[in-house]
Amino acid sequence: MTSAISERITTIRESLPPSVRLIAVSKTFPAEAIRAAYNAGIRDFGENRIQEAASKQAELQDLPDITWHFIGRLQSNKAKKALELFDWIHSVDNLKLAQRLNQLAPQLGVSPQVCLQVKILPDPNKSGWSVAALLADLSDLNQCKDLQIQGLMTIPPLGLNETETMNVFNDTAKLAREIQQQNWSHLKMQELSMGMSGDYRLAVLAGSTMVRLGTILFGQRT
Ligand SMILES: *Cc1c(COP(=O)(O)O)cnc(C)c1O
Repeated sequence: MTSAISERITTIRESLPPSVRLIAVSKTFPAEAIRAAYNAGIRDFGENRIQEAASKQAELQDLPDITWHFIGRLQSNKAKKALELFDWIHSVDNLKLAQRLNQLAPQLGVSPQVCLQVKILPDPNKSGWSVAALLADLSDLNQCKDLQIQGLMTIPPLGLNETETMNVFNDTAKLAREIQQQNWSHLKMQELSMGMSGDYRLAVLAGSTMVRLGTILFGQRT
């Protein structure tokens, strides 16, 4: 298993532009899988459950230079724990959550990196801002000065064809450029967290800076 992970990482890393950050999504896989990926050079790991991440982090304390990325739905009552455990939160999906994180961050002495999750197409199965709702909230988000808002995150709805998927990624990149042109003092739009195992090649073509890959590195989740 260890050598399979290592080989897959090498192949995929070589296929990505060097500027694209490869986040290994280790959810459901044990700490040993993370260790294998670490030994193959990965330093960015994505998890979507607080409790699961906490127990793996406890097992991996001897690997101090891991950057942890939270990519799941974050409930407000877990915001504090998320800030304690994660360097990045990709899935900030509403203003209230952003404000809660902004309030907690200085109390905890952290300065989290954040992406704003957007839904380019309506999708009842996903959380996130619609484009219009995000544009309406930018002024309030710009006030969240204890967050380092770095860009946008998106997950296309299930069942799209390649063209439709590409459109979602291109529209996300375009939205980030539009926001950037508004020159907000505290909203950076240099990161695009987009692309999973099935669609990361398209995401990279559209300008993704962070791909979140699980299955293609670790195998099927059970
Ligand atoms: C699980 C998950 C991934 C990884 O998905 P794969 O298809 O296994 O690569 C990426 N992003 C998010 C938000 C996820 O929940």
